[in-house]
Amino acid sequence: MSSTDFALAVEDLTVSFDGFKAIDDLNLYIDKNELRVVIGPNGAGKTTLLDLICGKTRASAGSIKFKDEEIIGLAEHQRVRKGIGRKFQTPSIYENLSVFQNLEVSYPSGRSVFGALAFRCTAAVRAKVDEVAADIGLADKLDTEAGLLSHGQKQWLEIGMLLMQDPELLMLDEPIAGMSARERDLTAELLNRICQNRAVIVIEHDMDFVKKIAHKVTVMHQGKILAEGPMDKVQADPKVIDVYLGH
Ligand code: ADP
Ligand code: MG
Repeated sequence: MSSTDFALAVEDLTVSFDGFKAIDDLNLYIDKNELRVVIGPNGAGKTTLLDLICGKTRASAGSIKFKDEEIIGLAEHQRVRKGIGRKFQTPSIYENLSVFQNLEVSYPSGRSVFGALAFRCTAAVRAKVDEVAADIGLADKLDTEAGLLSHGQKQWLEIGMLLMQDPELLMLDEPIAGMSARERDLTAELLNRICQNRAVIVIEHDMDFVKKIAHKVTVMHQGKILAEGPMDKVQADPKVIDVYLGH
């Protein structure tokens, strides 16, 4: 398989913090339309891996190809423009704006030649907001002030703000932390919907949730990949039980 077939190809990736290798010679390949879940004990390097892919942290060595293009030298905002979206653990929505306005302000303005004219086609924005609001289950909350949403709804809104940019790779770090059981189920459905036309990487600890969404699971440990494959195979792997699932 050539790297052209992958949404993301990470090769020999390493980052050292004062000599400590938080990511150590790691290889990771994500297919287009794949939903990959990354699990592993605290400190395994999961968040750091996403930081390297989105450009928040600079790699010490290695390659990150997005749709067969090397992006390792690009700044964070350039990677966003290429189509990489990253959700952090704490939501960063505008509490005083409505759901509609939060989505509207997230519509990209500079990605196309038309955007460069600083011209916003109102009908196109409206259509995109409606589409995304349906995807995140907030179609009937468009006029609601974001600050009044439940914790789970705020998380979905932030995912929606990323979807407004139509990312081809979306990365979510522990998206169901603090959610109710019902919100977790709805988030699983949401993720299954939005991975249909993009690659998604999710970091998560809740194994019931992982089972509902993962196409494949990557287990990280000490900056390396310990195991990778379908959920049932990974769960039965003695190495994985030893360092992670057994605790
Ligand atoms: P995980 O998300 O799997 O819990 P992290 O990626 O947050 O793990 O952290 C991996 C390791 O790298 C930890 O030991 C952490 O302390 C260290 N680390 C992460 N970011 C930095 C940084 N900016 N400077 C120094 N050490 C860091
Ligand atoms: Mg983390």
